[in-house]
Amino acid sequence: MAFLGVPQAERCHNFDLQGIQVHRQARWGYACGCGSHQLSTTRHNRVQQGRQSYLCRRCRQPLRYSG
Ligand SMILES: [Zn+2]
Repeated sequence: MAFLGVPQAERCHNFDLQGIQVHRQARWGYACGCGSHQLSTTRHNRVQQGRQSYLCRRCRQPLRYSG
């Protein structure tokens, strides 16, 4: 198969919350167990629609919208 060598572990939970490029997208504040994060509008929409959830890389708790 063509999946060899392709990292799939983070496919469902994308942790690249740090160092991501900010384009024109507004940011949305999310809180976890150890602090706060900001998601792009695209990710925010996915969370709000229940299509995806994001976990904090450090505390492994789900990010919750904090406004
Ligand atoms: Zn955390």
